[in-house]
Amino acid sequence: MKYYSTNHSAPLASLKEAVVKGLAPDRGLYMPERIERLPQSFFNDMPGLSFQEIANKVAEAFFGEDVETKALRQIVNETLSFDCPLKKVEEGIYALELFHGPTLAFKDVGARFMARLLQYFNGGERVNVLVATSGDTGSAVANGFLGVEGIHVYVLYPKGKVSAIQECQFTTLGRNITAIEVDGVFDDCQRLVKTAFMDEELNSRMKLTSANSINVARFLPQAFYYFNAVARFFNENGSTSSPVVCVPSGNFGNLCAALFGHAMGLPVKRFIAANNANDIFYNYLQTGHYKPKPSRQTIANAMDVGDPSNFARIVELYEGSHERISNLISGATYTDDEIRQTMRRCYEQTGYVLDPHGACGYQALKDLLQPGETGIFCETAHPAKFKDTVDQTLGIDLPIPEKLAAFMQGQKQAEPLSNNYDDFKTFLIGK
Ligand SMILES: *Cc1c(COP(=O)(O)O)cnc(C)c1O
Repeated sequence: MKYYSTNHSAPLASLKEAVVKGLAPDRGLYMPERIERLPQSFFNDMPGLSFQEIANKVAEAFFGEDVETKALRQIVNETLSFDCPLKKVEEGIYALELFHGPTLAFKDVGARFMARLLQYFNGGERVNVLVATSGDTGSAVANGFLGVEGIHVYVLYPKGKVSAIQECQFTTLGRNITAIEVDGVFDDCQRLVKTAFMDEELNSRMKLTSANSINVARFLPQAFYYFNAVARFFNENGSTSSPVVCVPSGNFGNLCAALFGHAMGLPVKRFIAANNANDIFYNYLQTGHYKPKPSRQTIANAMDVGDPSNFARIVELYEGSHERISNLISGATYTDDEIRQTMRRCYEQTGYVLDPHGACGYQALKDLLQPGETGIFCETAHPAKFKDTVDQTLGIDLPIPEKLAAFMQGQKQAEPLSNNYDDFKTFLIGK
C-alpha cells in the first residue's frame, strides 16, 4: 500500500517511509491510497470474534501488504495487552472505556502499536522520536517506547499547562526518554516539532520521526477499538440498528480513525465531535469555514488544540465536501462550567465518574441523540488522571489506581527550553 500526502505535492511513500517520516515533505499528512471495505461476512461474524481477532482483521486491511503476517499479528496482540470495554452508563448511553492501558488513556493503543512497528522497520538504527504533548500524548508515547532499543524519545510539553499526574508519567522515566519543558503553549511545542522535521540540515545530522497523532502508525490502529465496540454493542444491546459514536476531540486523530473504520464499512449511524471551548471544528461544521485560533486552556486540557492537525485528513476523506462532512458528523462545544455541571449530574444520576474529556462526549450524546438512537461515547482517560478537578467537582476523594500511583513515586527530570526554534535545534544537536 502506498501513502500520499494531503497536500498532494509530495511523492508517494511506502508504509515504512510514512511511519519513519511522520509528516510528508510538503508538510501534508499521509493518507493510505486505498481504504478497503471489509466483506459483509466479516461484519456478520464480528459479534462472535474476540478483540484481538477483530483487530487483526482490521490491521491486515491496512498493513497486510507491508508487514509480514506473523510479525503483524504479534504487533497487534502485544499492543492490545489490555481491554477497551463497553460500559452501560444509562439507558441509551454507553461509555467505551479506553483507559485500561499502561498510562490510563486511549493514546496507549496508538503509541504501543507505533513503537513496535517502528522497531520492526528500523532494524536497530538510531531514530529520534519528537513528540509534542498537551498532556496525554507524552505519557502514552514515552511509555509505549520506553526501553525500545535504538529509539530515543523527546517529549515537548508546555510548562505549567499539564497536570502533575500527567507530567510525572513522562518526566520520571529516564532511560531513552527525555522530557523538554517548553516556555509556551501546546501550539509552540507542535510548531517546534514540525519545524524540526522540515529542517533539512538537522535531518541530515540525525534521523527524526514523529509520534504525534499525525503518524499513520499511531492514528490508524485506533480504529481497532471502534470495531470491537460495535461488536460488543451488538452483543450486549441485542439491537441491530447502528449506534451513534461520539468522540471527545482535540487534534482529531481519534475521530479520524473512527471515520476510517466507517469507510471500511463499520456500521455507525453517524458521528459527533465533542469539543471543549476550543470550538474550531464546531464552527467549521456550522459555517463551512475553517479558522484556526490560538488554543485556549481548559480543564479538558488534552483537547486544547487551536488548529487540529487531522482536520486535513477529514477533508481529504470526504473530498473537501462540507456537506458530506456535516451530514455525517455533528459538533458540540462546552465551557469548563458546563463540563463540571455534566460531571456532577452524571455522577448524581448514574454513579459513573466521568473525566473532563469524557464528560464532553457524554454531554454531547445527551444533547444530540434523537429518540430511538443509542450512543457510545469514548471515555478517553481514567478520571484519576484529573483527580484535582474530579475531586473538587464531585466532592469525593477518588482512589488513585496502582498503575498511576507508581509513576508518582518517581523523580522529575526535565530540560527547560524557550519556545524559540534555534534553541531547540541547538539542544538536539548537542545531544
Ligand atoms: C488526546 C486526548 C483527546 C483528544 O484526542 P484527539 O485524537 O487529539 O482528538 C481526548 N481526551 C484525552 C484524555 C486525550 O488524551
